[in-house]
Amino acid sequence: MKCPFCHKDNDKVIDSRSSDAGRTIRRRRLCLSCNRRFTTHERVVDGYRLFVIKKDKGRVPFDRDKIIAGLQKACVKRPVSAEQIQQIADRIEEAIFRSYDKEVPSSVIGELVMKYLRAIDKIAYIRFASVYKDFKNPTELIDEVTRTLQQAEPVEQLRLFEQ
Ligand SMILES: [Zn+2]
Repeated sequence: MKCPFCHKDNDKVIDSRSSDAGRTIRRRRLCLSCNRRFTTHERVVDGYRLFVIKKDKGRVPFDRDKIIAGLQKACVKRPVSAEQIQQIADRIEEAIFRSYDKEVPSSVIGELVMKYLRAIDKIAYIRFASVYKDFKNPTELIDEVTRTLQQAEPVEQLRLFEQ
């Protein structure tokens, strides 16, 4: 498996877990070239697919890459590593597959992305929220910023990246 950080194909599996009621196998891999860890997901190909229901009621296949793209966009020039972005995407994906079987509202995904961004980087969170929440005027944005700054750090933040 090609390492997402150094792009070498030289890794070993350090942990395998079945999730999503056995339909997905999650493997934690260690890149032997750069020593970083990454996660791969193997899925049964035929039949099973999770769909995202968008605000306009459109239905699109769930796509982890879209979550990563959204996270990357929010984290441009912020001190959030590619590895942390992968970890957040893992957490979001696991949370979704644990609770949703066939369809998941896009709002659930948006809320999860905001939850993790808020925990890791408030600027990235505000960026994402300002697009996602579609603030109608600067006051709404300022209110959100104020609320975010007043919020106590979620306990989860402390444990998020310890694994
Ligand atoms: Zn590597």
